[in-house]
Amino acid sequence: MSSRKFLNQVDQQISRAEVNNYDRAVFVLHDQLNLQQWPEWVRRKKPLLIFMESVAKGRSLPYHKKKLTYVLSSMRHFAIECHQAGYSVYYHATSKHYGQGLTELLDQNSELDVTYMMPSEWDSRERLRKVKGKYPDRITEIENSFFYAETDRWKDKIEPGYRMEYFYRDMRRQTGYLMNDDEPEGGEWNYDEDNRESLPDDYPVPEITTFAPDDVTSEVMALVENHFGDHFGQIDNFGYAVRREQALQLLDEFINERLADFGPYEDAMATGEPTLFHSALSIYLNNGLLLPWEVCERAIEAYKDGKAPINSVEGLVRQILGWREFIRIYYEAMMPEIRETNFMNFSEPLPELFWSGETKMHCLKQSLKPIFKQGYSHHIQRLMVLSNFSNLTKTDPRQLNRWFWFAYVDAYEWVVLPNVLGMSTFADGGVLASKPYVSSGNYINKMSNYCSSCEYSITKKTGENACPFNYLYWNFVDEQREAFEVSGRNSFMVNMYDKKSEEDKKEIKKSTENFLQTLGRDQQKK
Ligand SMILES: Cc1cc2nc3c(=O)[nH]c(=O)nc-3n(C[C@H](O)[C@H](O)[C@H](O)COP(=O)(O)OP(=O)(O)OC[C@H]3O[C@@H](n4cnc5c(N)ncnc54)[C@H](O)[C@@H]3O)c2cc1C
Ligand code: SF4
Repeated sequence: MSSRKFLNQVDQQISRAEVNNYDRAVFVLHDQLNLQQWPEWVRRKKPLLIFMESVAKGRSLPYHKKKLTYVLSSMRHFAIECHQAGYSVYYHATSKHYGQGLTELLDQNSELDVTYMMPSEWDSRERLRKVKGKYPDRITEIENSFFYAETDRWKDKIEPGYRMEYFYRDMRRQTGYLMNDDEPEGGEWNYDEDNRESLPDDYPVPEITTFAPDDVTSEVMALVENHFGDHFGQIDNFGYAVRREQALQLLDEFINERLADFGPYEDAMATGEPTLFHSALSIYLNNGLLLPWEVCERAIEAYKDGKAPINSVEGLVRQILGWREFIRIYYEAMMPEIRETNFMNFSEPLPELFWSGETKMHCLKQSLKPIFKQGYSHHIQRLMVLSNFSNLTKTDPRQLNRWFWFAYVDAYEWVVLPNVLGMSTFADGGVLASKPYVSSGNYINKMSNYCSSCEYSITKKTGENACPFNYLYWNFVDEQREAFEVSGRNSFMVNMYDKKSEEDKKEIKKSTENFLQTLGRDQQKK
C-alpha cells in the first residue's frame, strides 16, 4: 500500500507537496474533515496540510469494509478539495500507526513544526502525545472543536446520579435552542410521551438518496478488497456520501422529507425498514462532513417555519445536543479504566449469530441484516434488540462493545464505548443509566411488526417455540436483582418475578438453560 498503487486518483488530482519546503504544517485526522472548525489562522495562512492513511489503524479491528471505504474515500475527497482551494497537501499512506508515521516525517524534515487537533479517540491521542513528548517544541496540540460542550467544564460532573437530562437542560440554556427566556419552547423539556408510536401498516417511508461510487471511491473499494478482504460486512452497493456537498444534500432531504415523522416513530421498528424516519446522519457528523450545530439549527428553523412539530424537533435536538454531547463527556471522564468494566461479570463469548445473522428470531435477523449490508441500524435496534439479547444471554459486554465498534460505519471509540458499556449493557454499574435496558418480547412486539413474521410465538412464555426474550428476561431479572434495586429496595420487576409460581419459575429456568446450551458462541473471533 505504501507503494501508492491505490493512490492513483489522489496523485492525479493533487500535485504532492515536498514537505521539506515547509516549516509549518497542520496534521488533519480522518475524523476532522472540516476546515471551518480549525483556527482562523489555518484558513488565512494556508499552511501545508498533512493527511495520513494508517494500515495499522485499519487493521486494529476487523472494521466493516464500508466503514474503511467511507473513512478513506471521504478523507481523500477532502484532501483533493483542500488542494483545489489553494492549500498545499501532503497525502501519505503508512503501514504503521499515525504516531510513527508523523515521527518519521518530523525526523526527515528537521525544519518542520506541526499543529494537530486533539483526537477524539483515546489511542490516537496517546500516540500523538508520544510524538509531542519527543518533539515538545515542534508540535502544538490544539483543543478539539467539533463538539458543543467543553470537556473541562463538564467532565467532573460525571458520576452516578448525574443524568443526561440535567446536562441537556443546561446545554439548552447555553445554546438558547428552543428556549423562550428561561422556559423551554412549548412548555416542556421533553416530548418523549408523544414519541413512542409504532408504525401504522402501509405508512410510506421515503427512500434515502445514495451516491454511486466515483473514481476515487472505486479505487478505495479495490484497496479495501485487496488489503482488508477478510473484514466484516459487505462492500458492494456502496452508496454513502463522501463529500460535504453530498452530505449537505442528505441533510436537506432529512429535514424536508423525514424530520416531521422523526419524533412519533423514533422508537418504532418495521420489517424491511432499517432507517424509518431517522436521520442516518451520524456517520457524517462523526467525521466532520456535517457539524452538529448545522443539523440542530436546520431542524429548529423547520420548526419555526411550521414544517416540523415540536416533538420531532426537540427529539432530534435532544439526541444531538443532549445524548451525543453527554456521551462524549462521559468518555472523557471515564477513560481509560472504563474499557474493562463488567458490572455483572458476564463472560460468555459473543453469540455466533452476530457474525452469521443465522437465527430463527426475526427481530434479530432484521436488526443484523442492515449491519452486514450497510454498517447501520437505528438506535432501538442497537439498544432493545441486539444489546438486549447480548445482556439476556450473559455475553461479555466488552466483546459486544468490540463488535459494535467494528460493525458500524458510524462507530468511533468515544461514541460507541459509552453507548455500549454505559447505556446498553449497564457494565459501568449505573454511572450512565439508572437501570439495565432489558425487556421481554412484549416491548419488541409493541414497537414493531416483527413478531408476526417470527417462527417463535410471542404469546408463549416458556417451552420450545416460546419467544426466547420472554423467559430470558425473567431469568435475568432473577439473577441480576442488584442491578434493578432502587435505593436498596427490590424493583417492581423483581417483585413480579418473586410472585410467580414455583412451577413457572422452574419452566423459566429450564427454557433458559436449554436455549443457552444450544446458542452458538463465537469462539475464534474473540
Ligand atoms: C449499543 C449502541 C451503540 C451505539 N453506537 C454508536 C456509534 O458507534 N456511533 C454513533 O454515532 N452512535 C452510536 N449509538 C447511538 C445511536 O444509536 C446512533 O447515533 C444513531 O442510531 C445513528 O443513527 P441516525 O443518524 O439515524 O440517528 P438519529 O436517530 O437520526 O439521531 C440523530 C443523531 O443524534 C445522535 N445520537 C442519537 N443518540 C445518540 C447516542 N446515544 N449517542 C451519541 N449520539 C447519539 C447521532 O449523532 C445521530 O445521528 C449507539 C447506540 C447504542 C444503543
Ligand atoms: S417473537 Fe420474540 S424472537 Fe420473534 S420477533 Fe418477536 S420478540 Fe423477536
